[in-house]
Amino acid sequence: MTTLRQVATLDSTLAPLIGRTAHTLRDERALITVRDLLGFFPTRYLAYDSDLSELREGEFVVVIGEVLSAKTREMTTRRGSMFNATLTDGRHEIDMTFFTARGHQDKLRPGVRVIAGGQVGVFNRRWQLAHPGYTVLDRSGDSDLPGLFPVYPAVPKLHNWNLVRAVRLVLDALDPLPDPVPAEIRAKHDLPSLDRATRLLHRPNSRAELARARDRMRYGEAFVLQTVLAQRRLARAREQMAVPISGGGPLLQAFDARLPFTLTAGQQRVSAEIAADLGQSVPMSRLLQGEVGSGKTVVALRAMLSAVDAGGQAALLAPTEVLAAQHQRSITAMLGDLAEGGLLGGSELGTRVALLTGSQSTAARRQALLDVVSGTAGIVVGTHALLQEKVDFAGLTLVVVDEQHRFGVEQRDNLRGKAERPPHVLVMTATPIPRTIAMTVFGDMETSVLDELPAGRSPITTHVVDEYRPGWLERTWARVAEECAAGRQAYVVCPRIGPDQASEEAAELPTPEEGEPPKLDMIGVLETYDVLCAEPALTGLRVGLLHGRLPSEEKDQVMRAFAAGEIDVLVATTVIEVGVDVPNATMMVVRDADRFGVSQLHQLRGRIGRGAYPGLCLFTTRAGGGPAAERLAAVATTTDGFELAQLDLKQRREGDILGARQSGSRGGLRFLSLLAHEEIIAAARVDAAAVVADDPELTEHLVLADRVARELAPEQADFLEKA
Ligand code: ADP
Ligand code: MG
Repeated sequence: MTTLRQVATLDSTLAPLIGRTAHTLRDERALITVRDLLGFFPTRYLAYDSDLSELREGEFVVVIGEVLSAKTREMTTRRGSMFNATLTDGRHEIDMTFFTARGHQDKLRPGVRVIAGGQVGVFNRRWQLAHPGYTVLDRSGDSDLPGLFPVYPAVPKLHNWNLVRAVRLVLDALDPLPDPVPAEIRAKHDLPSLDRATRLLHRPNSRAELARARDRMRYGEAFVLQTVLAQRRLARAREQMAVPISGGGPLLQAFDARLPFTLTAGQQRVSAEIAADLGQSVPMSRLLQGEVGSGKTVVALRAMLSAVDAGGQAALLAPTEVLAAQHQRSITAMLGDLAEGGLLGGSELGTRVALLTGSQSTAARRQALLDVVSGTAGIVVGTHALLQEKVDFAGLTLVVVDEQHRFGVEQRDNLRGKAERPPHVLVMTATPIPRTIAMTVFGDMETSVLDELPAGRSPITTHVVDEYRPGWLERTWARVAEECAAGRQAYVVCPRIGPDQASEEAAELPTPEEGEPPKLDMIGVLETYDVLCAEPALTGLRVGLLHGRLPSEEKDQVMRAFAAGEIDVLVATTVIEVGVDVPNATMMVVRDADRFGVSQLHQLRGRIGRGAYPGLCLFTTRAGGGPAAERLAAVATTTDGFELAQLDLKQRREGDILGARQSGSRGGLRFLSLLAHEEIIAAARVDAAAVVADDPELTEHLVLADRVARELAPEQADFLEKA
């Protein structure tokens, strides 16, 4: 007798293959096609417990044994009969109990061998499986069961057994699966095909096979992801040409000659990387990472000066008005007479640094716009306002984005549209990005790392202060007073503005973790300001207040006064988080520090220890013990940003890293961990780049092309926003 074998592809619907089970899978788990079901992987695998001596109550087991005896009994309390079959492995026994005999008593006859799976119970001091799933094995013992028994995620109304059977039917009907990873690459890494790996994951014979299958799936995911990124890099390279910027021009030379310090080896290396990119007509897309104070801005400024030397303009985008203004001031100061282009007494080589923010006076704005459109200003510093409004550039060739985490991908694209030809883009971030993340989430950008601080930086010491310990808070303020008495300045940072406010700043705080005690109201800057003004220890000191709700002129004024040393203690929200540079500020108190994330604390702390004096950072907390306290202790013990970033990542669910891409999408990363599988990701990156270089449109790699089309773009902005 021959039966016609059903033939299925990944897109086939399940119903014709597996019958009624398909309806349940559709209704309960939205699994409709063969692809869906094959992507529904077992969560555990059980070895067969042929030795019944080691059973534990409540455990899910799969046992193989022979039916020793079988008995049907009329039930006493209701109609119908129940059925019991006793299974033995030769030495120990377990009962299989069913509350309807029909359908079982014919199959489970004494002498037959069965494999049964279910939860172990105890009844009348005997082991029992109530309503187990089972299969009668044929005489030869060849059961067509895998060596390890797969356990699937629970599906209401279906026994695990039904799933095992359904998957087997599907696999039997399925032609070999097409593989997105080319055979040569598989051979190189000794990886099984997708078809083989898929079958092994559903029906493995050993743990070793399972491990091989998982390795293969990880590689496959990394390879597809890297192919997407390689294609993006290529697309950028083929974009309309950028204006190449050659280095070594007179303005840059004059600037270098005026620099009061020598560049660190890291700054020189990164400058060379950037210069090499700028010399190309392929627009640069580079991420410059470096600790706060590592000297990124100087590196970026040198690139901007090259752009001006080459006859173009550079724009520097800052996340806030305070920072934009500060950048403009510090760049102007660094340039000295080189920033007085066209002015009497200015250098002939000079240019001008224009500032464009949403809140400046109409006159100042008009002048700035004029300088920008005429090209008088070679460097334009601004906020988002630069992107949104009608700012015309004479010839924008380079865009530097500072502290990317307030800028999305979309905004960068927006800015690209400001130039006739696509500008080179340099993104600076002080959020340390672990290598695997740089290779994946940011995989379409090149990355440069400044991993050393300029010499002469002073170390920062961090302590955690329990506000509830008697006298500790007073001691904290006394310490602030001592610092100021020594001629230095301090920040006091709070997680919110006032008691009534759920401000935009508070919204950035991490959500409480599970297991943490309910939150007290957060301490605000307004109350802290009042407390400090009345604090006897601080009598005679000038206390300032800075937060996001102040009019921007006032913010600017306060920041300026602090920088000038006219304020001793600055009480502020996280508005000071990024980029504020006051070397004389050596102490920071962060109140309710447990309300901030790891990276944010690290970022905040970077505001001190920027000058010749050692920094002191105190994290005050009312949280007691628990995860929050551990987090604070971790930040207190290290200032290594990469270590902290890793810690931060571990505390977040990995799915968050890739954002929407993962959640609820079956096409996302299922086997690959961005934290754990660095080597796989690195190998896949090399392989994918080679494939894309040879076959940019993937016309020779149709299966891969199909998988790539199913991938969603990883969200870079998402990663940084959460960091
Ligand atoms: P970042 O932007 O990475 O936070 P900055 O470029 O603002 O760092 O540099 C921080 C401070 O260090 C600035 O005052 C800058 O002038 C100074 N600086 C930068 N590079 C060096 C160097 N090689 N040696 C000494 N000081 C430096
Ligand atoms: Mg900076």
